[in-house]
Amino acid sequence: MYFLYLDDSGSVRNINENNFVIGGISIFENHMHWFIKEMDDLAKQILPQNPHSIEFHASEIFSRRIPPWNGMSKQSAIEVIQAVLSIVSKSYTQNSAFACVVHKKSFLNLDPMNLAFENLCSRFDLKLKRIYAITGESQRGLIVMDKNSYESGLNLLSINFRELGTRWGILRNISEVPYFVDSQASRLVQLADSIAYSVFRYYEAKDLSYLEPILVKFDSEDNKIHGLVHLHNTGSCYCPACLCRL
Ligand SMILES: [Zn+2]
Repeated sequence: MYFLYLDDSGSVRNINENNFVIGGISIFENHMHWFIKEMDDLAKQILPQNPHSIEFHASEIFSRRIPPWNGMSKQSAIEVIQAVLSIVSKSYTQNSAFACVVHKKSFLNLDPMNLAFENLCSRFDLKLKRIYAITGESQRGLIVMDKNSYESGLNLLSINFRELGTRWGILRNISEVPYFVDSQASRLVQLADSIAYSVFRYYEAKDLSYLEPILVKFDSEDNKIHGLVHLHNTGSCYCPACLCRL
């Protein structure tokens, strides 16, 4: 089984931001323990006396307003976010990143959250289908999200998916409705948060420094990055997601 951990970055309602991102990582069940241990070890390095109090939330680390990040230099805060992302970089190849960026003004009549979520469900499903086509292994998928993200709306959306299918076809491999957890208790949702943040920083602030090291980890096949999607109608775009689709 594969688990797709997702979190969002940016705000749907903030008119000062152009983009909204949902991003995260699909993890093979046997590798979950490795990711959690890597995150816990990093927390121990930062606060040895109370590592479990550390929640890796990239925007909070970057802003350095709340403990334990408030005494930190800007450079040290950046290094913490990079250290979290390096866990993604060095993970086994079965585990791949996913993210969907929505340019909000391009879709004024649609909910960016639903749009991104629908797209990511389809792409996760395609990954599971590809595994079956290549290896013959039938793998199921479960989506796990931070419970602060539109819980009831997304549950309804997911039920509609199962009954009606999406515009890409019926999702056969993804189990049940999304499973919601408290990000404070889930290191893997925190990892998803860092991936979503790295994508948001690139599209919102043209800051590639966080995304670049993990770009190779996005689900891809034959140089086509299936796992990173940029939804917009602003004309030509040369971002990594749009470039590979030209
Ligand atoms: Zn683009």
